[in-house]
Amino acid sequence: MTKKNETIELGWNFDNSYARLPEMLFETLELNPVQSPELIFLNESLATSLGLNIQELKSNNGVQVFAGNGIPEGAMPLAQAYAGHQFGHFTMLGDGRAMLLGEQITPENKRIDIQLKGSGRTPYSRGGDGRASLGPMLREYIMSEAMYALGIPTNRSLAVVTTGESVIRETELPGAILTRTASSHLRVGTFEYVSKWGTEEDLRTLADYTLQRHFSGFEDESNRYLFLLKEVIKRQAELIAKWQLVGFIHGVMNTDNMTISGETIDYGPCAFMDTYDPKTVFSSIDMNGRYAYGNQPIIGGWNLARFAETLLPLLHDDQKEAVDQAQEAVTGYKKLHHNHWLAGMKAKLGIFNEEQEDETLIGDLLSVMQKSSADFTNTFRALTFEKTEDTAINGSDEFAQWYKRWQERLSRQQESKAASHELMRSSNPAIIPRNHRVEEALDAAVEQGDYRVMERLLNVLSDPYAHSEEQEEYTTLPEPSDRPYRTFCGT
Ligand code: AMP
Ligand code: MG
Repeated sequence: MTKKNETIELGWNFDNSYARLPEMLFETLELNPVQSPELIFLNESLATSLGLNIQELKSNNGVQVFAGNGIPEGAMPLAQAYAGHQFGHFTMLGDGRAMLLGEQITPENKRIDIQLKGSGRTPYSRGGDGRASLGPMLREYIMSEAMYALGIPTNRSLAVVTTGESVIRETELPGAILTRTASSHLRVGTFEYVSKWGTEEDLRTLADYTLQRHFSGFEDESNRYLFLLKEVIKRQAELIAKWQLVGFIHGVMNTDNMTISGETIDYGPCAFMDTYDPKTVFSSIDMNGRYAYGNQPIIGGWNLARFAETLLPLLHDDQKEAVDQAQEAVTGYKKLHHNHWLAGMKAKLGIFNEEQEDETLIGDLLSVMQKSSADFTNTFRALTFEKTEDTAINGSDEFAQWYKRWQERLSRQQESKAASHELMRSSNPAIIPRNHRVEEALDAAVEQGDYRVMERLLNVLSDPYAHSEEQEEYTTLPEPSDRPYRTFCGT
């Protein structure tokens, strides 16, 4: 085994700007080596885009880095401090099982966080063991890469290693570490943490750092912190609309799981909805449906209001003026989100121009889908290819009338039928990571050490709008015995 804190040279190109922030924001870490790491998955295209050498990553030295057994050249391991509202309640959190190695500066001069998840205890671990088990890390790999391929901003998965050690959950499970990448791990919860325990100077430093890192053009703004607030609102409005459009349910939209960059983060209890129902919840701990599919836009607004509160001291010296500015910005979220959602739904139906009745047309379809327990993804796919015969939505008068209205609507735009079809093809995925297919892949991997099922799944998920023949078998619905599906946090 590698000695503690031995430096491994692999030609990484790290900077550590986060480590130059006020000390309250992080804790530097010693490594927690694991016994016998083995590389299970490596995201070669992501690695290449980061400027990393695949052969080196696969070598023993590369694997030691992914295992947290050695520090790559230039890295400065740290755990980030943050707070957050969990199910509405404020809590102190922080990376309890994650380690930021540093920021890889890519050949395109992008700054990307490289973080190990499951890399051992940190000062923020509370009672936890700092570890992760293989199934959930593979699940995050599948889900985050599927989201990326769907065109949804997200953190990504670079590698999974097994540790050769067990973790104790309800049973003994194989341990694993996921290496994930993100344009940063700044969260609403990071601002909440500084707002609660830092000085105004700390808050300003954090806000300036965030602007510099994520939001170009702020230099010309008369109030850069109001600009920051509005930009974060814009990105979240678009992100959550994109989730809704593919039936994604995040599952745990606590403020510590909402990024400032507008990327999806925290793939613990997420899942894709099959049967359309806005009340759909998969997470075992979401008893009241706070984070149900249809509630996500509202919760997004609630979280953004918490973000706005943290910025008040920076917005204006006069408190009332600051509150007014924040309120106006947060109020704008609803419309921004709705516009993205509407534009996306219209694209899903092949509609290019605008008509007053479009929203009613969309709402009526969703209503028929809900009544007939239609599958969300397959319904739009069937409409795209005009093959609705085999879908649950087919058969009722209500649907027949809707279909006629929709066809008439399409005929009232300049664009051809073919153009509509193309728009629908690229807006309606052929496949999503269906829960039963994800479970099947994880079962094969974790129970039998057979990673081929997951490889095949990742392969078809990597081009969800291809509508290829090999994707066909992945469109089938789960057996009734696979429902109701449940997901879990703290895995
Ligand atoms: P999450 O549900 O993944 O957002 O995690 C909520 C908080 O619990 C974060 O601060 C995590 O770092 C922490 N956490 C989750 N699992 C563990 C674990 N096994 N050991 C230590 N901390 C953990
Ligand atoms: Mg989290």
